[in-house]
Parts: sequence; structure tokens; C-alpha cells
Amino acid sequence: MPINIAIDGPSGAGKSTIARAASKRLGFIYVDTGALYRAVACHMLSRGISADDEEAVSAELAGLGEDYFSLRFIDGVQHVFCGEEDVSDKIRTPEISMGASNVSAIPAVRKYLFELQRKIARENNIIMDGRDIGTVVLPNADLKIYLTASAEERANRRFKELSAKKDCPPYDKVLADIRQRDYNDMNREIAPLKQADDAVLADTSELNFEEATELVLRLIREKIG
Ligand code: C5P
Repeated sequence: MPINIAIDGPSGAGKSTIARAASKRLGFIYVDTGALYRAVACHMLSRGISADDEEAVSAELAGLGEDYFSLRFIDGVQHVFCGEEDVSDKIRTPEISMGASNVSAIPAVRKYLFELQRKIARENNIIMDGRDIGTVVLPNADLKIYLTASAEERANRRFKELSAKKDCPPYDKVLADIRQRDYNDMNREIAPLKQADDAVLADTSELNFEEATELVLRLIREKIG
């Protein structure tokens, strides 16, 4: 049976960087499920469909084949595709972040992406991160971690990341976006972000990247030996 580790938590808690580093150390595949929601948002925006227009998004999805959005692992690195287009880089913008948060509240989107995520978990040793992995996608995961940090600290980290790119928004906007996405993710009707009853809480506000990665690796080793 493949080993499945679920990591959930709010935006900017460091889930992806930490999960990627821990996966590499363990020889597991790292699955970033947020990229799928981002790819759906990217596709909708490119078609001129508003990410919060439930009817139009659902209708567009119904017209796409079930394999239209896919994750492919090239040299162990995840790439996300819309049809045959690799959109892995294109989806990392503030506009797509907000779009992903909006499409993720639409039931048809979650239903569409559910089986795809389950299939990868059935076939591989993985660390999968997202918002509903421990609660919905992998309720029987070998270990569930809820990784979080204060909103201010998460905004600080995101701001530093964005400063390296052009058109970096001001810090206040980054913080407001983080708070808005937290609110959206925690209050949506379907699969809201919350700590699973059997998840271990890991707060990284006071930890640097190496310390947080060590903490996650320790939790995993304690659990799976
Ligand atoms: O993790 P990332 O910031 O890339 O995710 C983008 C958005 O996708 C999140 O704000 C969240 O709304 C949504 N998401 C989700 N469920 C997941 C992963 C991401 O709803 N499992």
C-alpha cells in the first residue's frame, strides 16, 4: 500500500516549499493540489469566464473531457496541464490565486478534481498538500498535518517572494488578499478549510524553512517508521 501524507493549511503557511523538500528527502512524490484549482481558474479566465460565475464555470467544465486538467511528473517535478499546454508557470499570479479561491467554492470544480487526486494517491507514495486533503480527499491518510502560521507572517513571506517579480503589490494588499482567501477557504459551504480531527497541528510562525521541514520530517518518521 502506498504511503499517503496529507498536509492542509491556509495560503502562505509554507506547505508547498516544506512538502516539496520533505518529499525529496523521503523519495516521495509531492502533489500540489492548489495547482489544479489554479489551472481551472487560468482556463476560465482565458475563456473570459468569471471565476465566481458558478453556472458558466460548471457549464464550461462539463464540456471538457475528464482528463483535460492533469498533473504530470517530469523528473519527479509536478507540472500541471490544461489540455496539452503546460501552465505550471502561468498560474503563479495574484489574479489566478484569487481566481482559484473563487472556483474552488464551486461544487462541480471540486467534484471534477476529486478522482484525479485520489488516483495519484492510490498509485504512489505521496505528500499531498491542499485545503481538504485530510478531511475529504484522503480521509484515511497515514498522517495528517495541519500547517499554519499567523496571517502577518504568511503575508511577509509571500511579499518577499513576490518582490522578486515585477509588478509586486504593496504589503498591505498582500495581507488583505491572504485574509480574503482565508475567509473564502474557511467559510465556503463545500469542503471548507479546517483541521481534521486526527491531524497534527504544526505552527510555523516562529520557525524558519529548515526548522519547519525538520518538524514535518520528524512527524512523518514517527508515524511511518
Ligand atoms: O495552495 P494554493 O494557494 O496554490 O491554492 C489556490 C487555491 O485553491 C486556494 O486558495 C484554495 O481556495 C484552493 N484549494 C482548495 N483545495 C485544495 C487546494 C487548493 O480549495 N485542496
